[in-house]
Amino acid sequence: MGKYDVIIIGAGLSGLAAGIRLSQFGSRVRIFDMQRYAGGMNSYYRRGERAYDVGLHAVTNYSLERSSPLSLMLRQLRIRRDELELVPQRSSRISFLDADLEFDNDFGTFRDSVARSFPGDQVAFDRFVARIREDDSFNPSLGFESTRAVMREVGLSVELSEMLLCPVMYYGSSWPHDMDFHQYCVLFSSMFLEGLCRPAGGMESLVGVLTKRFLENGGELSLGSAIRSIELSGGRVSGVVDSAGHFHGCDAVLSCAGYPETLDLAHGQHAPEMIGELGFTESLFELSRPVRDFGLADSVVFFNSSSTFSYGVPTEGFELSSFVLCVPGNFPGVRESGRGPAIRMTALASPKYWKGLSKGDYELAKAALLRDELDILESMYPGISKAVIYSEAFTPKTIERYTGRLNGAVYGSPIKIKNGLTDVPGLLICGTDQGFLGIVGSMLSGIVVVNRHLMT
Ligand SMILES: Cc1cc2nc3c(=O)[nH]c(=O)nc-3n(C[C@H](O)[C@H](O)[C@H](O)COP(=O)(O)OP(=O)(O)OC[C@H]3O[C@@H](n4cnc5c(N)ncnc54)[C@H](O)[C@@H]3O)c2cc1C
Repeated sequence: MGKYDVIIIGAGLSGLAAGIRLSQFGSRVRIFDMQRYAGGMNSYYRRGERAYDVGLHAVTNYSLERSSPLSLMLRQLRIRRDELELVPQRSSRISFLDADLEFDNDFGTFRDSVARSFPGDQVAFDRFVARIREDDSFNPSLGFESTRAVMREVGLSVELSEMLLCPVMYYGSSWPHDMDFHQYCVLFSSMFLEGLCRPAGGMESLVGVLTKRFLENGGELSLGSAIRSIELSGGRVSGVVDSAGHFHGCDAVLSCAGYPETLDLAHGQHAPEMIGELGFTESLFELSRPVRDFGLADSVVFFNSSSTFSYGVPTEGFELSSFVLCVPGNFPGVRESGRGPAIRMTALASPKYWKGLSKGDYELAKAALLRDELDILESMYPGISKAVIYSEAFTPKTIERYTGRLNGAVYGSPIKIKNGLTDVPGLLICGTDQGFLGIVGSMLSGIVVVNRHLMT
C-alpha cells in the first residue's frame, strides 16, 4: 500500500480543508473519520429522503470583498463562491430585557442600532470596533487577553458590554464568563463586520463540494473508519492503526479530533484540565406553517432574559435564561428539506449532568427540555406550539457520541494550540483546538496549519 505523506484524523471541516490543500499539491493524503458522513460537528444526517443539518445556524464571514477571509480561503481551496450557494441573512438581533440591537450584513445597521439604544456609548463603541480592526488576532505568539478588561478600558457601559459578549461567546467561547480578546476579535469580525449566511442546500451541499474537490485532487477518504492509535517510532510519528487493526504508515498525522483526544490516541492519556466543560443543547422544532406567521422574521436571535449575561456551565442540565434561535427559512433563498419550516434553539448545558443520567432519565430530561423550550417560544410567539409537527433535541452526550469530542464540548478544550504543534514531531493539531472556531474558522485552521508546517 505504501506510505502516506499525511494522514488526517477527522473529515470535519478543518480536516477536509487541510486535505484539499495538501492533495492539490500532489501529497499522498488519506482522511479517516469514524462517522459515515463527513462534516464532523457541522455535518448532516438522513431520515428517509430528508437530509437534516446537525445543528447549523449560520456560516460567518459572508463578505464578498476579494480580500475577506472567506474569499481568500476559497481561492486557496480553488472553490468558486457560487459552488457553495451562500445566501445572506435577512436581519438578526440581540434581545436583552431592556434593549434590542439589530444587525444584518451591513455593519452600519448595527452601529446605528447601538447609537439608538446606547447614545452615551457611541464613542466607546467606535473605539472598541477600532481596537478589533487593529488587533493582530492571528499571531500565534499572543497570549490570553481579557475581553471584559478591554471593554472597560475603552469605556463601554456594562449593559452594552454584556450585549456584545452574548452572541460572540455563544458562537465560539470555550471559556466561561470571559473570552480571549484575540479570539473575540476574529469572531466579532466574522459575525458583524463580514456577516452571516447559510448554504442554500444546507450542510450536505457544502460538505459535498469539499468532499468532491478532495477526491478529484486524488485524496483518499475512509468514512466509518475510526483511528484507534497514533504510532510513534524513535520519538516521532510513524503511522496510525484503524479500528480494523490495520497499520497505515505516514510521515505526518494531522488531527482535527481535538487536543486531549489526540493525546489519548498518541500517549493513552491527557491532563483533566484539557477537557472543555461547556456544553450545549440543540433543539429542532418543525412547524406546519412558516415561522414568520408567528411574528418572528429574524434569521438569528440571541436572547437573554435579564440585563446581565451569564455564560457558564449550568448547575442543572440546561439553562434557558439565555438561548439562541435560528430560523433557516428566514435566510431568503434557503431550501428547507425537513417536514416543515424549522426553528432551532441552542442553550447552555452541563455535559456532566447529561452524561450521568440513566437511559430512562435521559429520555425524560430531553422531553422536559423540549417542553420548557416550547413554553418559552409560546410566550414569545403565541400560537407557535400548536403548529409544531416534529421536535427533537441533541445534548452534549449526543455530540460526544457522534464526534468523539470529550464532554461533547462544541468549542473544544480551553487550552488552544495556536501554532498547531504538539510534543510529538510529525503530529499536528488543526480545527477547534488550534483556536479557530466555527465553520469558516475551522476550515481556515486546516489551511493555515498545512501552509505553515506541511508544504515543504
Ligand atoms: C450542534 C452544533 C451546531 C453548530 N452550529 C454552528 C454554526 O451554525 N456555525 C458555525 O460556524 N459553527 C457551528 N458549530 C461549530 C462548528 O461545527 C465547529 O466549530 C466546526 O465544525 C469544528 O470543526 P473541526 O474540524 O475543528 O472539528 P470536528 O467537526 O469535531 O471534526 C472532527 C472529526 O474527527 C472525527 N474523529 C474524532 N475522533 C476520531 C477518530 N479517533 N478516528 C476517526 N475520526 C475521528 C469526528 O467524527 C469528526 O468528524 C456548531 C457545532 C455544533 C456541535
